[in-house]
Amino acid sequence: MASLTPVRFSPSAPFFGARAADVESVVCVWLRVTCRLVYAAAVPSPLVFAGSPLDRVSERRKDGAWLAAQLAREESRFLAFWRLNVLVKTEKPQLAWATNALRALADERTGPVLLGIAGEVAHFAVDLSKIDDPVTELGLGGAASFVELRAAAGTLSGGDCAIAAQGRQMLDWHARHRFCAVCGRATSVKDAGYMRECDECDAQHFPRTDPVVIMLVESGERCLLGRQAGWPQPMYSALAGFVEAGESLEEAVRREVKEESGITVSEVRYYASQPWPFPASLMIGCLARATSSEVTVDKSELEDARWFTRDEILTALRAPGTGKVMVPPALAIAHHLIRAWAES
Ligand SMILES: [Zn+2]
Repeated sequence: MASLTPVRFSPSAPFFGARAADVESVVCVWLRVTCRLVYAAAVPSPLVFAGSPLDRVSERRKDGAWLAAQLAREESRFLAFWRLNVLVKTEKPQLAWATNALRALADERTGPVLLGIAGEVAHFAVDLSKIDDPVTELGLGGAASFVELRAAAGTLSGGDCAIAAQGRQMLDWHARHRFCAVCGRATSVKDAGYMRECDECDAQHFPRTDPVVIMLVESGERCLLGRQAGWPQPMYSALAGFVEAGESLEEAVRREVKEESGITVSEVRYYASQPWPFPASLMIGCLARATSSEVTVDKSELEDARWFTRDEILTALRAPGTGKVMVPPALAIAHHLIRAWAES
């Protein structure tokens, strides 16, 4: 029977005099630490849409006088969104910030949202969705355009991607929560955009983030990937699914893998996380070890799921388009999960 006694590292106990069981424990600890370091070293930091350079100054959000002063300051900067597309400069891959004159065109039922400060300069996101033709109304004249964020992420800096992700997710939440979930009456923006309060019953509503587990299931020299019917051939990716109420991350990983592929999983380890503001997810990357091998695909969720060898995955990473499988681009945490396993 395995001992539950923790491994002790005593300076008075020479390693070579240790019992076999102790040596085994030390080796296991070393392997676990080494594996963690391999995976930790492979995590790009931060992943796309994380790593905003702004200080979110959450302690100032309830300070109405400070907030009003920032909204009125000429130095403050405003980032326009139109129907969830973000304003980007045409000549340079940069966010197109504007002055507070932009507020005159914004829909203040869904903002403005304080994104944070840089130095002493406040940065806000504003929603121009009520305008039919923002390019003309703003007189952009080709200097900037509204771009879908996943497309813009390919060229924007990491900091700009993170700022735009925060703005997109927050404005989308406001647009979807203009009415109270308790009584159905209108709600108003409070706390610099971080709360909505019902005008009738005073119920308070807060921005939501939906946790999603995304897991690379491994079994020795193979990993399990799946594909959805709408994806380009031969794209496969890590399995994923929403965490349900009353469920730990480990339980969600095991349930989703079992549901989608019929594979059972034992050990689950955390890898890294990525904000995914389409519309409000947090992708929680995990590595999981399979304890079965026969795949049974849930056709209601996936077109296919199958095992791929390490060599097949390495080919997909090093020479995309030449092998029997393609994996998602580096924008997605799935790419990094797959790479971390393949190169470990
Ligand atoms: Zn209400």
